[in-house]
Amino acid sequence: MKHQVVIIGSGLGGLLTAVLLAKEGFDVAVLEQNKQIGGCLQSFSFDKKIFDSAVHYIGSLNEGEVLHRIFNYAGIQQHLQLQRLDMDCFDQIISGADDKSYALAQNLDHFTEQLNSYFPKEQAAIKEYARLLQYTCDHFPLYNLRMGDASEKHKVSDWKLSSVLQEIKASPALQQALTGNAILYAGHHDKTPFYQHALVSKSYIDSSWRCTGGSGQISKQLWKQLMAYGGTIYRHEQVKELMVQNGKIEKAVCTSGAEYLADHFISNIAPQQTIALLSDQAILKPVFRNRIQQAPLTVGSVMVNIVLQPQQVLYKNYNINWNKTNSLEAIDLLPQEFPVNYSIYYTEDRQHPGYAESVSILSYINTDAFEAWQDTYNNTLAPSGRDNAYQEFKASLADTLMNVVAQRHPELRQHTKSCKVATPLSYRDYQGSMKGELYGIEKDVNMLNQSSLTTKTRIPNLYLTGQNVNLHGVLGVSMTAISSTADFVGMEYLLDKINKA
Ligand SMILES: Cc1cc2nc3c(=O)[nH]c(=O)nc-3n(C[C@H](O)[C@H](O)[C@H](O)COP(=O)(O)OP(=O)(O)OC[C@H]3O[C@@H](n4cnc5c(N)ncnc54)[C@H](O)[C@@H]3O)c2cc1C
Repeated sequence: MKHQVVIIGSGLGGLLTAVLLAKEGFDVAVLEQNKQIGGCLQSFSFDKKIFDSAVHYIGSLNEGEVLHRIFNYAGIQQHLQLQRLDMDCFDQIISGADDKSYALAQNLDHFTEQLNSYFPKEQAAIKEYARLLQYTCDHFPLYNLRMGDASEKHKVSDWKLSSVLQEIKASPALQQALTGNAILYAGHHDKTPFYQHALVSKSYIDSSWRCTGGSGQISKQLWKQLMAYGGTIYRHEQVKELMVQNGKIEKAVCTSGAEYLADHFISNIAPQQTIALLSDQAILKPVFRNRIQQAPLTVGSVMVNIVLQPQQVLYKNYNINWNKTNSLEAIDLLPQEFPVNYSIYYTEDRQHPGYAESVSILSYINTDAFEAWQDTYNNTLAPSGRDNAYQEFKASLADTLMNVVAQRHPELRQHTKSCKVATPLSYRDYQGSMKGELYGIEKDVNMLNQSSLTTKTRIPNLYLTGQNVNLHGVLGVSMTAISSTADFVGMEYLLDKINKA
């Protein structure tokens, strides 16, 4: 089979790039190893309730905002079922250290006013924080869907989050309020760049949304658009080799035996996995290969998904984020301590509005904790199951987490009807990540070159897209899909079309 463009992986990055290219008349095919498309966008169900495997809320989807404009251009925005979170509180932050709680509001002015009421003596620091948030976001051209060059970003790229918070003289309590949802970017006091915090936080402050009916609707709608433009998704096609011929990729060879030839290949999978697929490793410089292969990954996570007894637990139209001590030091406390944090996401019962039908509870865990089972594999295509020791470990983790959650939210344990637990291995096997890490390669402000990638590679017809280039998350990956598409059609042309749509 020969196509103009073959995309490896049907995560958001792969699907959105496919739609944007197909819309430009390219003959695009997407190869997905799983039956379900979407990667991290996958939803699943048990006990008749729908759960999101990863994406629980999305920012910047209000009319005129960046993701709204991108999704609108891709033809999916009007088909998404969305619910805006509480304007006065999209994220509740609970600091375990002093048991204080803060409500983060949507809209930057409202956000700062509300913080001022919690910290009346720190209004200057809050004002400066808001200014730097806006200033940083303004320096990322794609965040604003405008032309610009990399030097703009470089002006703010090497600021460290923890240093900025100190420089604005935010008290420890204010710092906790501002970074209490650091699980959104796996924030770390010594590594996280301010820009990563700023782009992610600002997008949710602008507007925060849940996908009612599951995040899987995003991939479903993208698939519909792709088909409408003549593109194809081949499922159950795991690429096992990218055949190098004459300095270029000639074809993708799948475990099924099928071969897909193309003029261009775009990889939506981790760059480490992409390199491992190359039939001729020497095509890339060893320095580059080593840099990518050794790049540290973000921390892993465990998710406890709970179906609640009907009409027992009130629905919260916001998320709860608890940190045991300092949100930016939480990762360092692992593996000696668990849990060091948790976030609770509620789903409303549509039959009984005002009540929650389910909750998902997410917490950090080291992916290494599952090393004993790293050679086992389990998903719907290969449901091999894992041994009793794994099941017991998983159950004890869930129990330990729920013991801590129940201290503040006893109703969740009391009214649990049924429960399923996802570990880093579940994420690895269902979403195709390396070890079940949360967001791919870790961003480290001390080694920016180490953790920065571009969509173009040294192989002339191989490109990268997805969360490892630039920024993770629905917004970050969508922005990168614009860059990947622009590699083929030009950025000015593409932005003009998006902005006029
Ligand atoms: C637990 C968790 C919670 C999250 N919560 C949020 C949230 O609330 N909001 C938010 O915005 N973001 C969230 N994120 C981040 C966000 O989901 C991701 O950054 C984003 O969806 C990644 O998209 P991607 O295009 O990079 O690819 P991925 O989603 O990683 O998809 C890659 C695809 O490639 C396929 N693949 C892999 N190898 C092969 C192969 N050899 N051949 C063929 N196919 C292959 C995989 O099966 C997969 O379908 C969360 C992530 C996690 C893990």
